[in-house]
Order: sequence, then C-alpha cells, then structure tokens
Amino acid sequence: MKFFSTREKNEAVSFKQAIFRGLAPDGGLYMPETIPDLSGLIDSFTPETSFNDIASSISGALLEEELDTDAASRICRRAFDFEPRMVELDDNISVLELFHGPSCAFKDFGASFLASSMEEFLKTDSRKAMILTATSGDTGSAVARAFFEKKNIEVVILYPSGRVSPLQEKQLTTLGGNIRALEVKGSFDDCQRMVKEAFLDRQLSDRLSLTSANSISLGRLIPQSFYYLWAWAQMSGRREDLRFCVPSGNFGNLTAGIMAHFWGMRNKGFIAATNINDVVPEYLKSGEFTPRSSKLTLSNAMDVGNPSNFERMLELFDQSHEKMSDLIREEVITDSQTKAMIAKLLVEKNYEADPHTAVGYLAAEHYKKHGSGRIVTLSTAHPGKFTEVFQEATGKKPHMPQRLEKVMKLKKESTLVENTLDALKEAISG
Ligand SMILES: *Cc1c(COP(=O)(O)O)cnc(C)c1O
Repeated sequence: MKFFSTREKNEAVSFKQAIFRGLAPDGGLYMPETIPDLSGLIDSFTPETSFNDIASSISGALLEEELDTDAASRICRRAFDFEPRMVELDDNISVLELFHGPSCAFKDFGASFLASSMEEFLKTDSRKAMILTATSGDTGSAVARAFFEKKNIEVVILYPSGRVSPLQEKQLTTLGGNIRALEVKGSFDDCQRMVKEAFLDRQLSDRLSLTSANSISLGRLIPQSFYYLWAWAQMSGRREDLRFCVPSGNFGNLTAGIMAHFWGMRNKGFIAATNINDVVPEYLKSGEFTPRSSKLTLSNAMDVGNPSNFERMLELFDQSHEKMSDLIREEVITDSQTKAMIAKLLVEKNYEADPHTAVGYLAAEHYKKHGSGRIVTLSTAHPGKFTEVFQEATGKKPHMPQRLEKVMKLKKESTLVENTLDALKEAISG
C-alpha cells in the first residue's frame, strides 16, 4: 500500500514517510493510493474478536509491505491498552464509547497508534525525532499521553497562556519525562504560527528532526477505522440497515468510517452530525461548499469552519456530490438542543453524555424519525471533561474518571515563553 497527496497525485510515499512528514509537501493530505478489498477479513470478525485483534489484522493487511505481522501486532498492543465499549440505550440506537483511553477522548485512538508506529520505525532507524505541536486545549492532551515515554521521541507542546481550561492545562503540563509544555504569552493562533515558522526554518527543522502529530496525520486517520470495524463485528446479526452517526468538526473521524466502508464494511450509510458549524451538512444538501470562520458552541471541539478532511472525503467519492450524499445524511444541532439532550439522557436513560456525544445522539434521534434501521452513534469524549456544560444542563456534576481526578492533583510544570520564533528556538534547542 502506497499513499498519495490529495493535491498532486504524482508522488506515492510509504506509510513511514507519510507519518514523519505529516502534511504532504504540496499542502495536501495523504490518502491510501488504492481502495483495498478487505471484505474477507472484515467478514471473519465476530462479536468475540477483540479490538486489538481487529486493529492488528487490519493494520497488518493495509501495511503489509512495510510491517510484518509481528510488527503490526506489536504496534497495536503497545498503542491500545484501552478499548471502545458499546452501550445500548434504545431499541434502535447504540452508543459507541470512544473515551476510555488515557485522555478520555476519541483522539486517543489516533494519537496512540501514531506514537506507537513512530516508535517502531525509529527503533529500526536508530534516530531521534521531536514532535512539535500547538494546541488550543483538547488535542494536545491526547498527543502528550500517547507519546509519553516513547523511546527516541521528544514532545514539545505549545499552548496559549490563560486560555485553556484548568483540567486541560494539567493534562498538558504534568507528565514530565519526554513531554515538555511551553506556555506561550499569546493566543492559539500565535502558537500555531510559531510551530509553522519552526517547520519552515529548514536548518532548525533538520537539526532537531521536527515532526508533526497533527490531527490530519495519516497515522491518526487509519486507526480510527478500527473501532468502526469492531462495532460492526459487535452488531453481528443486527446489521440490517446499520448506520453510523458521527459528531463531526474536522471530519477525520467520519472519513475513517467511510474508508472502512469502502474496504468492505457493508453498513448502509453514515449520518454527519454537526453543531451550527455546518459547512459539510450544507454541502451534502446543496452541493455548495462554503468555508467560513467558525462560531463558538458548547461542543467546541467541533467548532470548525473549514474542515481539512473534506478534501479526503471528496477524493473517496471521486469528487461526486451525488455519491457522497447517497451514503451520508446530515443533521445540524443547536446549543439549546444540545443542553436539552444532555438533560434528557440523564433523566430518561440515566446516561451521562458530554456535549459532543449529545449532538450525535440527538442527530440519531432526528434521523430515526424519517429513516429506518439501527444506528450506532459515536461518543467522542467523557462527560467529566465538560463539567461546566454538564452542570448547566442538568444541575448535577458528572462522574469524574479516576485518571482525570488524579491529574488535577499533580503539579504543573511549564516554561513561559514569548510568542516569537526566537523564543521557541531558544526553548527547544537547549
Ligand atoms: C476532535 C473532536 C471531535 C471532532 O472530530 P473530527 O474528527 O474533527 O470530526 C468531536 N468530539 C470531540 C470530543 C473531539 O475532541
């Protein structure tokens, strides 16, 4: 399997090249060059097949030219000491919980697999790499946890001082070891600009082997297909007209599901659920794609006005609006509906949902009014990460997972830096 960029399709690269590059040199996103037929393998999975076995066999099949079976299963074993869980809340709606990883969000799946793959490749190369990443709060913690104690990899995370939540800050600044947090006197945009400038500084970038762990990395996209396939296997015998409903922002999660579908998962379709940042739903309805600046909502990890993975989606559907809208339906959910849904799930089902999960669940209910079949809706974060919204909606506090409570008690360690490339250089060169 080789990979090409969504823009210029002339240069095929290996998985290893794609993950150490992050973004393609032409600014495009890496995609599998062909759509492999894995239907035989997918059909062999049963409800008893473990998540790890599914991850190992799918990554082994996709990357067989680069990784032998042992390496593939070693990467997965090291990456996934957590699993998804399925909860049935309704006759026709099940929730696929993806927040049982170290940072309590679904991004743990992608980040862990990427970190584990990089560690494997660096072992055979005997070289070192430095991950440089900017975060507005949430994604950084999945990356930090995923790369913690990985050999030959140093991680530097930039975050805007005073602009992340106390829990998020603790998640970024308390690991120590190979994880360093730089608290930037400035905004998230400043952090992103500094990272970009560092990558463009060839001398610096080469000397430190700067590498990205950005959410658009192919190494984070591929593993997100594994839990769809695990859920698909779990639903064996009840798969008549099954659809996945995916709360979406940058659309990496949904793109991974679509890939699994094309590899041979015979689900009926998908529902793209968004908050009022609805450029993709609008495209699905009208065929017009109009990126715009994002609006703030309660489900803030989905506040994206120009979803980068849309390029990949178009590629998967041969740039055809008709093909895409055949497979994907859309639902748009407002903040007041989100809050009402959080309250309703608690009262009626005794289920605690975070705002993103609530968007997905209500989208599934809306869809059910005019469509048939079962729905598996993805739960992308633990409610304990969004206590304020949860409390506002229900008047109660959500349960806190132990791993979040523990983090709150640890001591913050970060370096305060100015928002300039020079300050960043000095901090990371020493
Ligand atoms: C990142 C994130 C999303 C959106 O996922 P995309 O792949 O960007 O569509 C949804 N929910 C939570 C909690 C997230 O962190």
